Amino acid sequence: MMNIVFLGPPGAGKGTQAVDLSLEFGIPHISTGDILREAIKAGTELGRLAQSYINDGNLVPDQVVVDIIRVRLQNEDAREGYILDGFPRTIPQAEMLEKLLRESGTALDRAIYLEASEKVIIERLSGRRICRECGKIFHVVNMPPKVDGLCDICGGELIHRPDDQPEAIGRRLQVYREKTAALIQWYAERNLLVRVPADVAREETYENLQEIFRNYA
Ligand code: ADP
Repeated sequence: MMNIVFLGPPGAGKGTQAVDLSLEFGIPHISTGDILREAIKAGTELGRLAQSYINDGNLVPDQVVVDIIRVRLQNEDAREGYILDGFPRTIPQAEMLEKLLRESGTALDRAIYLEASEKVIIERLSGRRICRECGKIFHVVNMPPKVDGLCDICGGELIHRPDDQPEAIGRRLQVYREKTAALIQWYAERNLLVRVPADVAREETYENLQEIFRNYA
């Protein structure tokens, strides 16, 4: 059982690393960003609500994402643990998560903080491309697809997320500093924080993460 939260600025590599860890360790990767993008694609009520917040680089209201997580954690596959990516993103979200877990008799095991400098983050976000179909993440320079514009895994079209455009990136970093960065201290106080350098090559970060996960498996 390993209940993990990934912390860190947008572009630190949370999604990329979580997908690989999820495959290797057989626990689900739960990304509120992915769930919200799915909802937008499917044109649901949730999607319509979330769209303008996301495209401008702002946060979706706390209650909305907490409700998503509450439902998602009830899924059978989350019993053996999970990696939460992109949630919590504010102190109130972290408090609500703590309460939710306490009510179900569980708790978090670790909050893993992927640390990366702003320079690296901006470079990663502006070159990021994601598969419209399966969500796999690429980068025009660092992780290019084999065929330009197409996903290596499923052949889906690669898109440049609206919130990976320059103005939205600036806004997201500002939101991160104002609302999310405080969670580092919050989890440190609860003795859950582990820092992992994420400015380095993807493989190097992955090895560090494997080490942490193996101690739980
Ligand atoms: P990244 O980590 O690259 O910024 P995500 O895919 O995690 O991207 O999130 C994309 C957007 O989805 C966020 O900018 C925000 O608008 C919305 N979002 C995702 N998770 C949350 C959350 N926990 N609280 C509020 N908004 C969220």
